[in-house]
Amino acid sequence: MNGKLVVECCDAAATALAIHTDEIADLDQQIGDGDHVYNLLRGLDALTAICDQMAAVDLGPALQLAANKVLSTVGGSSGPLLASLLLGMARAAPLEPQADGIAKMLAAGVAAMQHRGKTGKGSKTMMDVLIPVTERFQALVAAKASTEEILRELPAEAERGMLATRDMLALKGRASFLGERSRGHVDPGARSSQVIIAAICAQLDESRTHGASR
Ligand code: ADP
Ligand code: MG
Repeated sequence: MNGKLVVECCDAAATALAIHTDEIADLDQQIGDGDHVYNLLRGLDALTAICDQMAAVDLGPALQLAANKVLSTVGGSSGPLLASLLLGMARAAPLEPQADGIAKMLAAGVAAMQHRGKTGKGSKTMMDVLIPVTERFQALVAAKASTEEILRELPAEAERGMLATRDMLALKGRASFLGERSRGHVDPGARSSQVIIAAICAQLDESRTHGASR
């Protein structure tokens, strides 16, 4: 079942976040309260506990299970936002994981998240990574880019988005209380989103080349 893909992506995200835990905690200490990466790790840990259930169903139901789990385990601002992302993706999930369907699914998830968080690009949040990545994904699909190209371009777009948050003024969340003092630090949510996107793309590339060689 394609729910296995969700499990693979969660595992890749957990491994990557474990490597970057201290660095992301430090970013959230600079402009937040330090809990962001621990909130995410707790959610990913809870997802590991339901990996068999997710692997046994299709993409949509697996994402729905993940959304419910994230909502009940991840605190902070990011918990409900990420649950909205997963729920929006669940509702738009294609049966077969082809690039165009996955791009539409991601766009639906990001739209749901944007609706909940009431912000777009430029507020120094996760949206500064997720929106450009989604837009680039749709543009690449429209240009009939190869999967290889898509999986190479999206992490690069995520990195650009993450780095751009450094000089932004925070307009949302806890960091916004700092006003001008929020400038000069990368947003922790942007960094965690970028790390997760890079890890998921690397994982999908790995499964793709591994699958092709069999
Ligand atoms: P809290 O600030 O409540 O402790 P977290 O530490 O879990 O929440 O998450 C902080 C991250 O949430 C920020 O770095 C930012 O990227 C993201 N964020 C905060 N508010 C919003 C929002 N309205 N829309 C999108 N992302 C947001
Ligand atoms: Mg926090």
